Amino acid sequence: MKKWVYAFTEGDGKNKKLLGGKGANLCEMTQIGLNVPPGFVITTEACLYYLDSADHDLPAEVMGQVREQMLQLERATGKGFGNAENPLLVSVRSGSALSMPGMMDTILNLGLNSQTLQGEIVQTGDARFGYDAYRRFIQLFGKIAMGIPDDLFDAEFEMVKQAARVSEDVGLSADNLQEICDLFLQLFQAHTGRPFPEDPYEQLELSIKAVFNSWMGKRAVDYRREFNITPAMANGTAVNICTMVFGNRGNDSATGVAFTRNPGTGENRLFGEYLVNAQGEDVVAGIRTPKPIDKMDVEMPEMARQLAVLRNRLESHYKEIQDFEFTIERGTLYCLQTRNGKMNAPAMVRSSVEMVGEGLIDRERALLRINPDHLEQMLYPQLDRNVQAEPVAQGLPASPGAAVGQAVFDADRAEHLGRVLGMKVILVREETKPEDIHGFFAAQGILTSRGGKTSHAAVVARGMGKPCVAGAEGIHVDVQKREAYVSGQLVREGDVITIDGSNGNVYFGEIPTVEPEFSNELNQLLSWADDVAYLRVMANADTPEDASRALKFGARGIGLCRTERMFNAVDRLPIVIEMIVAETAEQRQKALDRLLPIQRSDFRQLFETMSPLPVTIRLLDPPIHEFLPGEEQLKDDIEKLEHLKNSVQGLEVLSGALMLLSQKNKKEEKIPEMVDVALIEKALETKALMLRKVRALTEINPMLGHRGVRLGITYPEIYRMQIRAILEAEAECVAKGLEVHPQMMVPQVCSAEELKWVRKYMDEIKASVEQRSGQKLSCRFGTMIEVVRACMRADSLARRADFFSFGTNDLTQATFSFSREDAENKFLPMYNQNEILKDNPFEVLDEKGVGKLMQLAMQWGREVKPDLSVGICGEHGGHPASIDFCQRAGLNYVSCSAPRVPVARLAAAHAFLNNR
Ligand code: PEP
Ligand code: MG
Repeated sequence: MKKWVYAFTEGDGKNKKLLGGKGANLCEMTQIGLNVPPGFVITTEACLYYLDSADHDLPAEVMGQVREQMLQLERATGKGFGNAENPLLVSVRSGSALSMPGMMDTILNLGLNSQTLQGEIVQTGDARFGYDAYRRFIQLFGKIAMGIPDDLFDAEFEMVKQAARVSEDVGLSADNLQEICDLFLQLFQAHTGRPFPEDPYEQLELSIKAVFNSWMGKRAVDYRREFNITPAMANGTAVNICTMVFGNRGNDSATGVAFTRNPGTGENRLFGEYLVNAQGEDVVAGIRTPKPIDKMDVEMPEMARQLAVLRNRLESHYKEIQDFEFTIERGTLYCLQTRNGKMNAPAMVRSSVEMVGEGLIDRERALLRINPDHLEQMLYPQLDRNVQAEPVAQGLPASPGAAVGQAVFDADRAEHLGRVLGMKVILVREETKPEDIHGFFAAQGILTSRGGKTSHAAVVARGMGKPCVAGAEGIHVDVQKREAYVSGQLVREGDVITIDGSNGNVYFGEIPTVEPEFSNELNQLLSWADDVAYLRVMANADTPEDASRALKFGARGIGLCRTERMFNAVDRLPIVIEMIVAETAEQRQKALDRLLPIQRSDFRQLFETMSPLPVTIRLLDPPIHEFLPGEEQLKDDIEKLEHLKNSVQGLEVLSGALMLLSQKNKKEEKIPEMVDVALIEKALETKALMLRKVRALTEINPMLGHRGVRLGITYPEIYRMQIRAILEAEAECVAKGLEVHPQMMVPQVCSAEELKWVRKYMDEIKASVEQRSGQKLSCRFGTMIEVVRACMRADSLARRADFFSFGTNDLTQATFSFSREDAENKFLPMYNQNEILKDNPFEVLDEKGVGKLMQLAMQWGREVKPDLSVGICGEHGGHPASIDFCQRAGLNYVSCSAPRVPVARLAAAHAFLNNR
């Protein structure tokens, strides 16, 4: 018979796929002797079977196996399920292979009914406790198993609370809670048309099914889509059935959530919150604001000591920061759940470095536990400290980083304004629930007035790396009116606010932000990454400023300098235009002569900044008409100039008439100042020339047109100027004793003949520069591989090139015949949604197509030149999965934009370690 159910004492703690993360950890904790209440797990396989079956049936054996396990629980606890004297109560919790906090459902206190309730009251001697447990169960069961909206229960609850004139739930008496139970039972009957189920096994079966259903609930589906959780990573949820222990049994009871280290900073110190006399959901839902864990030392010293022991055992066993839930029932500490803590990037980096120092993990583990993409969080802006601004409110620093945006007060509006209209918004809520998740995705940051650092808002925001301020009291939100009062002042939807998730401050208006500095720990970690990585990480940087930034981020050279960015600078563009509109080769040469010293100085500065690292300069690539205004713009300018000319000529007539008049009347008339018509005519002439040029250069498919090396061959003087500038810059650096390693590369090459042409320019100019300067030059000559034919002719290209650099932006365009300018806004999203293509190939390197071409090109190139150096400089060069491919394929380097460099450095280390 197939086994669908495993006791905590027998389940394999490593098998998260089958038992879910929570279930596997409960088994593991039980088996290493931690104090976990007895329980068992129903497998994810049962969930998949159930969801797949036409009528949503559980596998036939499941309830039988559940009953056997319930008997075990009865034996272990000495209680009886449904027993009216001494009832056994259980929790029913979800848990898939990957943690999805708050995205699926949980039911507590199951097993209560009108009979067992009385038994529970007798056993505990606490009627208030009994009714409180019962009302919680009815609401949770009603909502989750029967779909009764929470609001209906909340409204009844509030009504009784108001009538009793109490502000906090703890102020409710047993009678009040009994009344609430009665109202809830009536609500249940009215809403479902049936009485609340008394049979605990019926309650159990319905709850198991409800938890299975929550795997396909909207929140869970949205969450999986957003975080790219595929069925291979997590498929279905397990159900954990666990004996209830109660943190609300009086002042010697408590419940809490803690991290073994601070998840916001990584500090090696227990971090968490607890509430005395409360159930776990009170902490997580942010209904009551809990106390920091440090307070426990004073309030419950023995429990604090036991908690410290638990913390150490968890970390030394899992060798990872744990996020755990605990309950203290009448002086006994239980661990109810543990999982690897979701931390922000700075905390991950700091704890990685510190755990190596403590001997808990080795360097490889320290590198591998951090997702390279998460490092981007460390590049998030912080508030400019030089700006003096008074916060209007303060809450808990729940997820670091600063965010500015327009206030919005519900998740749907946040989604509409943020995601659909592309505005920057801050989601402001009194408290958040998991159903708000889509608003989180769309917001720059989150601000709540209730809840602690482990509330839903805080945990989710930290996971996403979004700034969050939680529990900022004094904020009252009116969702209907789309406004809030912050410390008594009105904030309307659309008003700009700033939040600082690093210290919990909230400000009106926009506060400027600054780029963060690299921490010592990050530098340390990335230097370990560089030690193990095989791939060299270079940067795409076009200006000396970019180059300095790239160096700061740890780039080991420049893999691509797009020289056109230099041409676009305001002081050069007029000369570039002059060069383009030139009618003769002499005119063009005159403009190029003016550009030469400018380019030479650009290159020299780049070489100086990067010395002694390599700098790869790409010769001009884009079609030259891109430097000219568009045809429409020019036509418009010409029309305006014609008008102006007419007006000025009209003014000349007026002026003549006024002169006549003033002579006749013998009085002075004011004569308007004139613009010189000749000047306008000159401007008109230039614009007309540009228009003619634009028309002559216009192409239907400019990206497949007169660009790259085609340009260099048809206008040799342009490439010659650039080559001379590079070589003269090298000569100047060498003369100053600087070690420089310039490389030039040719874009858009499709045949070895093209390379031969350009190489000839280089050889000639090199000889002349060497002769004139007396310096020996070392500049290397390479080719980009970005058209399909270049891949196919890689052997002959390798004979003429010192290195290959894959331009995977163009190569992807060429391989798919998808326009890189348009595809992402047109059909690609639909292709991705329907999994016609799994990923956007302009973002994630298409291994099967583009990657295959790269492998062939490399293989053929290296057959001719075994030590051929090969790199990538398209956008994929900074993408971790693509970097992994580059490692497997045997490239030597990757080059990406400067801010991606730290990500790429870590990804390069991962790529090496994961492919050993
Ligand atoms: C490429 O095509 O991948 C590349 C790096 O060049 P560009 O993006 O400038 O065309
Ligand atoms: Mg390209």
